[in-house]
Amino acid sequence: MLHITALEKLVHEMSRLPGIGPKTAQRLAYFILKSETEFPERLSEALLRVRAEVHECPRCFNFTDADLCRYCLDVHRTDDALCVVEEPSDIMRIESSGAFRGRYHVLHGAISPLEGIGPKELKIHELIDRVDAGLRGESPVIKEIILALDADLEGDTTILYLAKQLQGKGLKLSRIAHGVPIGSDIDFIDDRTMGRALQNRVEL
Ligand code: ZN
Repeated sequence: MLHITALEKLVHEMSRLPGIGPKTAQRLAYFILKSETEFPERLSEALLRVRAEVHECPRCFNFTDADLCRYCLDVHRTDDALCVVEEPSDIMRIESSGAFRGRYHVLHGAISPLEGIGPKELKIHELIDRVDAGLRGESPVIKEIILALDADLEGDTTILYLAKQLQGKGLKLSRIAHGVPIGSDIDFIDDRTMGRALQNRVEL
């Protein structure tokens, strides 16, 4: 077996991060190598801490280090509107637009038959449960669901599936309007466009 040096190992692990190509991985590895001794220690401690302390919110599946996440706990938010997103990071995008003051639900991905991701791999069952619990009077009634998913094939497939699952439950169901090119990740929509996308949401 070929011997892998410590530096090669670090470059390899860095290059597994999303958006990091081999060149950037190498640059990051050299940066760490040349930095003050405390930096690698603080970095590895932060990596271990985030895995040990952060977990999914049992209600909306956002990441949190508390029993419930800050959006589920916030008493100034309305319970009757739910915004469904693919990833926890999408919540930040919607929050900074300031156009939504309801609750969230994170699917942790989108339906992608090519990658073997079906409804069971996502928090879809949990979403239906939240709606049904409201209808049974066990939790506040959800009157509106806004689907803020990516404008790509996976996002569209997921929207179609959810629309079918959620029909007949007395909900106003809509998807955000995309004034941006098809295939775009909602991560890259600026605040004003996101605000408009929420306001001009399209009813399903
Ligand atoms: Zn939550």
